[in-house]
Amino acid sequence: MTINTVKQSLSGWGRYPQVAAQVARPDRYVELVGLAQQAAIARGHGRAYGDAAISASGTTVLMTRLNRFLAFDAESGLLTAEAGVSLDEILQVVMAQGWFLPVTPGTRYVTLGGAVAADVHGKNHHHVGSFSAFVREIELFTPQGVLRCSADLYPSVFWATVGGMGMTGIIGEVTLQLKRIPSAEMQVQHRPAANLAEAFALMESAELDDEYTVAWIDCLASGKNLGRSVFMRGHHAEGALSSGPKAAKLKMPFDLPGFALNRYTVRAFNAGYYRWEGRKQQAFRCDLAPFFYPLDGIQQWNRLYGKKGFVQYQFVLPPETAAKGLEAVLTRLSLSGNASFLAVLKRFGAAGSGLLSFPMPGYTLALDLPLRHDTLALLDTLDAVVLDHGGRVYLAKDARLAASSLPRMYPQLDAWRELRSQLDPEGLFVSALGRRLEMC
Ligand SMILES: Cc1cc2nc3c(=O)[nH]c(=O)nc-3n(C[C@H](O)[C@H](O)[C@H](O)COP(=O)(O)OP(=O)(O)OC[C@H]3O[C@@H](n4cnc5c(N)ncnc54)[C@H](O)[C@@H]3O)c2cc1C
Repeated sequence: MTINTVKQSLSGWGRYPQVAAQVARPDRYVELVGLAQQAAIARGHGRAYGDAAISASGTTVLMTRLNRFLAFDAESGLLTAEAGVSLDEILQVVMAQGWFLPVTPGTRYVTLGGAVAADVHGKNHHHVGSFSAFVREIELFTPQGVLRCSADLYPSVFWATVGGMGMTGIIGEVTLQLKRIPSAEMQVQHRPAANLAEAFALMESAELDDEYTVAWIDCLASGKNLGRSVFMRGHHAEGALSSGPKAAKLKMPFDLPGFALNRYTVRAFNAGYYRWEGRKQQAFRCDLAPFFYPLDGIQQWNRLYGKKGFVQYQFVLPPETAAKGLEAVLTRLSLSGNASFLAVLKRFGAAGSGLLSFPMPGYTLALDLPLRHDTLALLDTLDAVVLDHGGRVYLAKDARLAASSLPRMYPQLDAWRELRSQLDPEGLFVSALGRRLEMC
């Protein structure tokens, strides 16, 4: 079967780096068999920030036309769909019937395949773990053939694929256990934290814990305000069900000029956000979308950072070193003046079994930085802090980590490599990220 490809320049959500790619867009499931026999890498909605969803030297396979629902049991909440179905498309079908995603990232515009390949986490990781905890089965297209696997069936393949960033093959189908919800609304409460110590106290407080928790940190605050944050907690409220979230009406119409985001404009935004959101100390109700997906409210918001793009930096630190390590990172960021909108701090619970899954017990911080002449050098210094404190960087957000840092961050890398080379002895499934990090 001939598979048509077109040449295209591709990037991740951060628009850095831009890579020349050969792109195929199958619309028949059976085409995956042929695509898995050649150098390829699957791509969902391209919401990974860096170069993860671009083939190093072969075909990048756009999965978004393989978006058929195959089965849904409204009694049990078990859903089977092709891997190109987006989380948004799922919500449009299941929410009115009282079901929601058991784990959701901060955007609903990611595919099922992308969610499995990155083993994504949400604001409830400290209670329920990551996406893979709810994946009952996947169908995987490898150069060796097609394989159905799960935590019980070929578990070693399953745990190498979950978090394996597309480099064990193409995930064609996913069966996911959804979560019951009583309504389409959330019961939410905010608390301001004047500094990092207060933010940690709020995140650790058993009394304030909730189904979902998160803190937005002002990365430009310094001195006694270092780590100034708004802590947010929420759970699904009782009430009426309704259909899935509405598409955003706002759209970023053009690339903002590079100078528009600077330490002064971002400092003013962050200070205003802290005051405004920190005031909401009385519990209030809101729709699911603004609570889970605030950034989905503006289409193409990544154009805010201008044509040069931006990088997202997300790392996790173990509980024993998190406070010291975060203080060191925030101090460096604040001194650099590199403007980041409020960054997101989440708490992680127990790690899952994915060999390269990002979450481990502790705290994770995610922040966006515009690409300036000194941004990449600044991030190298942050890598050193993260390594010194026993942490790791999230591959789904990465565009620039050095290969030498990877084995120290991901101790199961060799086990993953071993398994991968059995599935793909000729090294066909290598992404630009995989090549840069010398993973395969
Ligand atoms: C605004 C925003 C908020 C985010 N918030 C979070 C968050 O809270 N938590 C979190 O964990 N992540 C978060 N992310 C990251 C995002 O969830 C992941 O990068 C996810 O993998 C993107 O899915 P995608 O469908 O866009 O995949 P892509 O970006 O296209 O691909 C990501 C990886 O998945 C692989 N892949 C995609 N489809 C398949 C397939 N069918 N078979 C095999 N491999 C495949 C690709 O090869 C690549 O390695 C966020 C991203 C954005 C832009």
